[in-house]
Amino acid sequence: MTVRVRFAPSPTGMFHVGGARSALQNWIYAKQQGGVFVLRIEDTDAARNKPEWTEGILSALDWIGIERGSYEGPHFQSQYAGEHRAAAARLHESGRAYYCDCTREAVQARTGSQYQGYDGFCRDRGLEPGEGRALRFRTPDEGETVVVDLIRGEPTFENKLIEDFVIARGDGSPVFLLANVVDDMTMGITHVIRAEEHLPNTPKQQLLWDALGVKPPVWAHVPVVVNEKRQKLSKRRDKVALEAYRDEGYLAAAMRNYLMLLGWAPSGDREIVPWSVIEEEFRLAEVNPSPAFFDEKKLRAFNGEYIRALPVEEFVEVCRPWLTGTGTIAPPPWQPEEFDADAFAAVAPLAQTRIAVLSEIVPNVDFLFLASPLIDEAAWAKAMKEGSAELLDAATAAFEALESWDAETLKSTLEAVGAERGLKLGKAQAPVRVAVTGRTVGLPLFESLEVLGRERTLSRLRAARVRLV
Ligand code: GLU
Repeated sequence: MTVRVRFAPSPTGMFHVGGARSALQNWIYAKQQGGVFVLRIEDTDAARNKPEWTEGILSALDWIGIERGSYEGPHFQSQYAGEHRAAAARLHESGRAYYCDCTREAVQARTGSQYQGYDGFCRDRGLEPGEGRALRFRTPDEGETVVVDLIRGEPTFENKLIEDFVIARGDGSPVFLLANVVDDMTMGITHVIRAEEHLPNTPKQQLLWDALGVKPPVWAHVPVVVNEKRQKLSKRRDKVALEAYRDEGYLAAAMRNYLMLLGWAPSGDREIVPWSVIEEEFRLAEVNPSPAFFDEKKLRAFNGEYIRALPVEEFVEVCRPWLTGTGTIAPPPWQPEEFDADAFAAVAPLAQTRIAVLSEIVPNVDFLFLASPLIDEAAWAKAMKEGSAELLDAATAAFEALESWDAETLKSTLEAVGAERGLKLGKAQAPVRVAVTGRTVGLPLFESLEVLGRERTLSRLRAARVRLV
């Protein structure tokens, strides 16, 4: 039997990091089993679906390494409406489902509670299909439904506690629960690896598989992803969109490595490992069923390590979208013609060790490309102390007189200027740095000045001096 897994997102919003994690787990499982990964877009909620979200899913999957053309699909749930209806009809014909015309209010009036499930009122009324009549599944009165779950063992549900649930609405349209099962059947899915939040649906869905006469799949419900307060990651409260991380400058390799560590770890106390190791060592059965903490700080640290591990030419290359602005990445504050690729290449190794996400490249190098630096007023106030004007005058004069414009000479020159005023190098640097770059922190100062060049450095020092008058 060929293993067939599927990833079945609904195109109702940005692509959730938890979804990316499930997709990767499906992907690796299929690969390990010599199986097939199927992508199915569950687009039947017409009110919430948008085509651009589907494109977002496809491109987010591409980014994370599940590339178009290397999997089966995308299939679209909406194209299988005929199969969904046929299955509903079969369940009715075989007596496994019945029509029901109870309103919610009537059920509540009978059961006395809005929390009580359906009471089976229409079970034996033999209603014909009709406008406003929902189709309900007749759940068995006794026995248990045992779900075989690779992560959770065998969660067992008592059938008598499962209400006769709706499988098609009053307008005849099948509900998600049924459509999802019918699609998995139609597509020959053998393993359903999906988020834990679907576990309450699983006994109902397994009953549907049984009633439709097909062997149910093996399940694996991967743990929910939570924030630092142990709350389920929510798109209203937390940063959950994979696209947001991508646009901030997380590397796909760091992201997918981190996502796979949510509830699992490779052997030997390692966390940052090549993807090939994860593909080889990952075991679905080893995934911890408890909620997995999505630690953005840790992800950042991971990303920093991945950035530092890049060959510098590659680092230059991956920075490009933030230096030029492309697609959904905002353009930088300088004009395209102000960008100087050679100057960037010269400071790139210095920047590479200092940033944790690629978007941070912009504030680190903007002084090189802007006609005048963006002055951070708080930084200015902090750096410009009594005596700064004189220091800047002395530094300007000393720099002007230099024959050689290199980092080492610039450093020893400013060191001497500071020493004359009883200032350590750190103190002497601060006003020069803010004058030239607009900030108090950034790339090593003297290398920056070397790349910025004599003319621009001197004119910025003079401009700062004027500002201080
Ligand atoms: N479309 C469902 C979702 O996005 C997935 C259901 C499933 O994986 O079975 O949550």
